[in-house]
Amino acid sequence: MAPAPRTSRVAVVGGGIAGLTAAWDLARSGAEVTVYEAGSRLGGAVAPHVLAGVRCDAGAEAFATRTTAVRQLIEDLGLAEQVVSPNPAGAWLQIPGLAAPLPATGLLGIPGDPQAEDVRRLIGAEAAARAAQDLHRPVDQWRGVSSPTVGQVARDRMGDVVVDALVSPITSGVHSADPDELDMNTAAPGLFSAMLEEGSLARAVQRLKAQAPAGSAVQSLHGGMATLVDALEAALRQAGVTIHVNHRVTDLRGLAADRLLLAVDGPAALELLGPVLPQLEGEGFSDGGTGGVALVSMVVHAPELDAHPRGTGMLVAPSVTEIGAKAMSHASAKWAWAADALTAVLGSGHHLVRLSYGRITDTPDSPTLGFQSSDEQLLAAAAADLPQLTGVPIGPEQILDADVVRWERALPAASAGHLQRVQQLRQALSQQRQLPQGEAGTKIWTAGSWFAGTGLARVIPDARAVAARMLEN
Ligand SMILES: Cc1cc2nc3c(=O)[nH]c(=O)nc-3n(C[C@H](O)[C@H](O)[C@H](O)COP(=O)(O)OP(=O)(O)OC[C@H]3O[C@@H](n4cnc5c(N)ncnc54)[C@H](O)[C@@H]3O)c2cc1C
Repeated sequence: MAPAPRTSRVAVVGGGIAGLTAAWDLARSGAEVTVYEAGSRLGGAVAPHVLAGVRCDAGAEAFATRTTAVRQLIEDLGLAEQVVSPNPAGAWLQIPGLAAPLPATGLLGIPGDPQAEDVRRLIGAEAAARAAQDLHRPVDQWRGVSSPTVGQVARDRMGDVVVDALVSPITSGVHSADPDELDMNTAAPGLFSAMLEEGSLARAVQRLKAQAPAGSAVQSLHGGMATLVDALEAALRQAGVTIHVNHRVTDLRGLAADRLLLAVDGPAALELLGPVLPQLEGEGFSDGGTGGVALVSMVVHAPELDAHPRGTGMLVAPSVTEIGAKAMSHASAKWAWAADALTAVLGSGHHLVRLSYGRITDTPDSPTLGFQSSDEQLLAAAAADLPQLTGVPIGPEQILDADVVRWERALPAASAGHLQRVQQLRQALSQQRQLPQGEAGTKIWTAGSWFAGTGLARVIPDARAVAARMLEN
């Protein structure tokens, strides 16, 4: 990385993982860096909380291993020995009347082998045969289409049942997005172009799965992903970075810096840019109608869960009306460190589960349980959902501790056209990275999940690339 110009003063707005990663690279290259974070702690959506005396993740709990980007940062911070892999058992899927393991060959729920036994078990022989038509039908009508949604493509290639039963629980539970709104190139980069080359969506899924590195698709850190934030914060302080928490930046013109990094969500970035770059007026980021997500984490005493009856968790199809949660992570089944920590503090037979609420199908007229619901409503719903999700009768008296955490704007809109809007905004900034009414010469960059895509595997390398560009300009 190029050394920073000697006088370089950088203000980083937003102390999530994007801002912290960029700040560290910038400071190590000699820039004088100040981080401003609106919240009371650093890390943004990578956050810890303590349940029944055990510290665990309240936000992101893992990173994707399809590239080495996150691993590299972890190694740079000296945390390589803390990397852990999940229980390979995998998650299950709940559709009306049936709970079964997620098909092994799928990507975003789209089966790589539509006729596989685990697919036929979930959707039936007729829908599997319809899905298999994808293997033979021409893809020509899709050539030249630039921003298809996952739903459009998968419905055409494999039929509605595949989308509604297999894809929708994953896009809803993982991306908080309706498959018919979700930009395919954002959700699964390379899948659409691979389909055009292979002449089949299923073969494209197979190709991308085969290209993925061996081993588990995600990993984490012993003690949870928040360990990464602890290490970054320590490294920033050691590198002489000035950190302000509880400091919401409301006007960029007040910041004494010659380089600015906006590592905040998309709507917040546009709000901050509006007064200084009026030509961006009219640019907008939709929140994709997600309205945020609410998580209910619970520690339960339920020795029946020791056998992990539903693998590492459960995704729930929107058509399952008797369960309010859209997904459940059985964190102590997934991560051995979490199970060990619970046993050390509470003894055997204890489990950590996390249920998420907030469906994208919610409307103001017919809200289901979600971000807007009260803690009492969410806790009651989670207690009622838990036995159904696990298949084990767990009574309220077995719940030893619980916490409700809400995340707003933490997951960017991934609707069709989002990528183009990001490119346009970044392009506009690169052409005029100058605060006309601010200090002479101040230049502006953006980083974070609204610009790079959801997930640490996208946010971290993008933030590092942006930091490198900031040093060159
Ligand atoms: C519940 C949940 C679970 C997730 N699970 C995973 C997972 O398992 N694996 C994975 O890879 N990804 C996961 N993600 C996604 C991942 O956490 C995010 O993509 C990533 O952490 C985003 O980092 P960021 O720095 O871009 O944004 P954020 O973490 O949102 O940080 C932005 C920061 O900017 C601050 N801010 C905003 N406005 C201002 C202002 N005006 N002034 C100062 N500060 C401001 C905010 O307070 C915030 O701290 C999850 C996300 C959520 C919400």
